[in-house]
Amino acid sequence: MVFLRLSSFAVLKRRLRKCEISRKHRVEKFQVFVQSRTFERKMKAVVYYSQRNMRVKDVPTPRIEEDEILVNMKACGVCGSDLMDWYLRSRAPLVLGHEPAGVVARKGRKVEGFSVNDRVFVHHHVACMTCHYCLHGDHTLCQKFHETNIEPGGFAEYFKVPASNVRLDTLKIPDHLSFEEATLIEPVGCCIRALRKCEVHAGDSIAVIGAGATGLIHTALARIYGASPIFVSDLIGFRLDFARKFGADFAINPNSENLKDIVRAETGGRGADVVVVTAPNLEAYKTGMDVCRKGGKISVFAPTIPEDHLQISPKELFFSEVKIIPSYSTSHLETRSALSLMETGRLRVGELVTHRFRLKETGKAFATALEGRESLKVVVLNE
Ligand SMILES: [Zn+2]
Ligand SMILES: [Zn+2]
Repeated sequence: MVFLRLSSFAVLKRRLRKCEISRKHRVEKFQVFVQSRTFERKMKAVVYYSQRNMRVKDVPTPRIEEDEILVNMKACGVCGSDLMDWYLRSRAPLVLGHEPAGVVARKGRKVEGFSVNDRVFVHHHVACMTCHYCLHGDHTLCQKFHETNIEPGGFAEYFKVPASNVRLDTLKIPDHLSFEEATLIEPVGCCIRALRKCEVHAGDSIAVIGAGATGLIHTALARIYGASPIFVSDLIGFRLDFARKFGADFAINPNSENLKDIVRAETGGRGADVVVVTAPNLEAYKTGMDVCRKGGKISVFAPTIPEDHLQISPKELFFSEVKIIPSYSTSHLETRSALSLMETGRLRVGELVTHRFRLKETGKAFATALEGRESLKVVVLNE
């Protein structure tokens, strides 16, 4: 009896001890959980109300789930689409910035392949990979592509990367690529996609209308793809100088030279095989139609304001067989190609960054990008 009592006492003691250990374990787990959920420090984010009204605000640092990461933004590019007020007005107020690079500040328990302190580029949109569009390679038309986003946006000290973006399109940046350069992965991806859709072949002649950052990236890519000759047109001399540096055989200012004549003269009177319109205005599209050869391709890369319409005669289109090929955004396929071209040094686009601003000066960064004349790529830094 005594023995039994002693024995059951020992069992009870052991059980209690086990309980104690698991309680301690649970408490620890709970503390880690609470810590990961309550990164309560406020952070700065730049809220867009309109093109001329952007405010730096204190907002809560996003909390991450166990399959998400939190990134400390280091650099974020200002994109042409950030300057399209008609596109943003209905969604304002919001935090913009979809060309971000930074450092992983926190990661959820279930995140694999990334560690705290990893340097990363994050793509804000990712496709579902299973819908009709995705199965046909039209990833940027997928509903989920439009619904996914980083939170609150790139123009903030930190942003949260949802699980699907972590899995599909968060890329580690090699050490020799700066954060600033990494912000160009997204725009380079957009250009790669547009040229892929046009099926550019070595020896094809290309005309790039507009020599802003994306026009120049197209120029550099066209050179890599073996296109020849490459024509670039822009109204600003400073940009044409860049175009020559980036591989243009002919950098033409339509104010002083006749683009159409030059393109025809250099292509046996035909016109360019591929025309990429990167300037968001009707004039640019008219010029593009003018310099495209019969059976050629016109890449619609820059949207105009919604009120603008091009008049196209189906009869002329029928007989000329000109193909109009729009390209919106970039998928995970092209961001990888972009990173690969950039990390191997095949594509050097860092020079495109002409202006840098601190996070609290994001309003100024936008004004500079809008002004346009002496700027190509404007980047906001958080250092
Ligand atoms: Zn962009
Ligand atoms: Zn899909």
